[in-house]
Amino acid sequence: MNTILEVKDLCKTYIVNKRQNNVLRNVSFHIDKGEMVAVMGPSGSGKSTLLYAVSGMDKMTAGNVNFCGKSLQDMKENDLAKMRLDDMGFIFQQMYMMKNLSILDNIILPAVKSEKSKTSRKEIMKKGQELMHKLGISDIAENDINEVSGGQLQRACICRSMINDPDMIFADEPTGALNRTSSDEVMNELTKLNEGGTTVMLVTHDAKVAAKCTRVLFIVDGNIKGEYNINRERSLRDRERELNNWLLEMGW
Ligand code: ADP
Ligand code: MG
Repeated sequence: MNTILEVKDLCKTYIVNKRQNNVLRNVSFHIDKGEMVAVMGPSGSGKSTLLYAVSGMDKMTAGNVNFCGKSLQDMKENDLAKMRLDDMGFIFQQMYMMKNLSILDNIILPAVKSEKSKTSRKEIMKKGQELMHKLGISDIAENDINEVSGGQLQRACICRSMINDPDMIFADEPTGALNRTSSDEVMNELTKLNEGGTTVMLVTHDAKVAAKCTRVLFIVDGNIKGEYNINRERSLRDRERELNNWLLEMGW
């Protein structure tokens, strides 16, 4: 397997009221193509900060991040923005969508903005519709964002994150605002995408969500305290039970 994301000695320091907060302290890890990695850890341990730093959404203080062979720390803001748009997909806990656009128009927006594939608007629409079909939400294409459920909206966010065929999806608590049923649906869709080849890194508080991934990184105080490989061939129940045992050992 080859590496898609390589992180070396990543540090992130915030300065608030002249006080230094070393949120990430020399974090190193790598993710191979095709992996689905969950980041877990206590609240405030730096999970979101890590996700944003390695995906170029936020500047790092020190260290190296290499994504698809490119060093983020050496890239200009314009090139970073282009890389985020073309090669990365993002999903958040709060489902940010534009209020004055239909669900489908929201989904295709990144493709309309991208210069990656010079396809016509018609083709882009078709691709958006295909994604919606795949995620089982074809019937809400023309709806406003306030006319659909949280689970539907989050599946629409997954469609949007996929519209430019990203190499990797970064998700910050994608199921954090959903009930169990919607959370399971969203995770099933993300797992399918991953099994289709898309690499995923997601932050979660939920062991049931993490048990569907292939590896878990456990972060405490801005450092990786442990990591755990998951064998998807085993039953979900076994995976959950064993992961929970490991999390207990980690002090979860
Ligand atoms: P987690 O996602 O694990 O809950 P975060 O990465 O959001 O944790 O935050 C880690 C630490 O960084 C916290 O102490 C938080 O207060 C601090 N922090 C996060 N974002 C900022 C910011 N924009 N400015 C200053 N401090 C921040
Ligand atoms: Mg967070």
